[in-house]
Amino acid sequence: MSEYILTTYARINLQFSHGKGSWLYTNNNRKYLDFAAGIAVNLLGHSHPKLLKTLNKQAAKVWHTSNLYRIKEQEKLAESLCRISFADKVFFCNSGAEATDGLIKIMRKYHYAIGNKNKTKILVFDNAFHGRTLTGILAGSSESHREGFLPHKKTNGGFIRVKFENVDDIKRLIDEKVAGVFMEPIQGEGGINVASLKFLNTVRKICNEKKVLLGFDEVQSGIGRTGKMFAYQWSNIKPDILTSAKGLGGGFPIGAILVNNKVAKEIKPGSHGSTFGGNYLACTIAQSVINEVSKKNFLMNVVDKGVFLKKGLEKLRLDHSDKIEKINGKGLMLGLTCKVSSVELNKKAREKGLLLVPAANNVLRVLPPLNVKIGEIRIALKTLDHCLREIN
Ligand code: PLP
Repeated sequence: MSEYILTTYARINLQFSHGKGSWLYTNNNRKYLDFAAGIAVNLLGHSHPKLLKTLNKQAAKVWHTSNLYRIKEQEKLAESLCRISFADKVFFCNSGAEATDGLIKIMRKYHYAIGNKNKTKILVFDNAFHGRTLTGILAGSSESHREGFLPHKKTNGGFIRVKFENVDDIKRLIDEKVAGVFMEPIQGEGGINVASLKFLNTVRKICNEKKVLLGFDEVQSGIGRTGKMFAYQWSNIKPDILTSAKGLGGGFPIGAILVNNKVAKEIKPGSHGSTFGGNYLACTIAQSVINEVSKKNFLMNVVDKGVFLKKGLEKLRLDHSDKIEKINGKGLMLGLTCKVSSVELNKKAREKGLLLVPAANNVLRVLPPLNVKIGEIRIALKTLDHCLREIN
């Protein structure tokens, strides 16, 4: 391990030299089936020919000019994101956590601008994860993520935490100081917890009644991961504001905040910014990702492959009911709640050449690239079966 890297990660002593499709290779040519996808990032696998072509073509033209000038590629991507969602306008940044910060700022600024200066609090949920900035760790539920980082241990930074799916608490806690509700329609890091459609409907209704904004964090669940462009599209409701990142760039860093007109019209020049946000390289690559995901049958295939994978995992659960408790998730955003240690199971899978991602609450996430092949899903299921036979 490098003595020069700040030890914020307990890294695995393994590195890859190249990747192709759903596979990663080490220097000595050992191959790994990548069902972690860089934590739901490599949406189209590794070295996707279209993304490579886009990257190389744009790299030869111009990379960055700043947001002081118009960027046609950024305007095009914003239009694409609006066309595939509820949104009317987009702000670009570089990561999920940055998008969280921007969303919270915009929620507060909206109310400030319409004269509700007291409305600054945001309702967030148990098991939520919204990134590692100071705002992100306050919005997220993990105590350990906050430890040592806040000037006052007891501060909640203007966030009120409620239990996922607890409608009564939401109704009770939204008072005249609350600006909005912020949630992941499917919690990722918290262990793949899918909000029921009934819950989403009710939250939207409460937000309308109480005149507060509804914000969705789709950093992990968005851009086709669940078989819809955004996970909220499984329901009939729309948020006022939404964050996207991870898969949006297919491996190239980009984040975005999508807003409806009601919110957008209160946001004025100078209110928020980013030097790199929406640069040429990020935007052209993200546009290519969206073009691929928008192709006919692409999302239908994600749904079909998700069903195939989930069925396979359900079978494993039945065959190893002493080791797996349940399978959660939608599309290709799935999680195994383990009875054995998810960390050990993850380690065993890695030793057998299968990469997965742990989450909170003893859950092991299965997040393959969206263009994964059925044959690769079969290999993953077989490998997991072997692991479960061996693990105690
Ligand atoms: N929001 C959600 C739902 C996430 O899953 C993540 C990352 O895991 C983030 C925000 C933070 O994104 P980033 O790591 O790009 O800052």
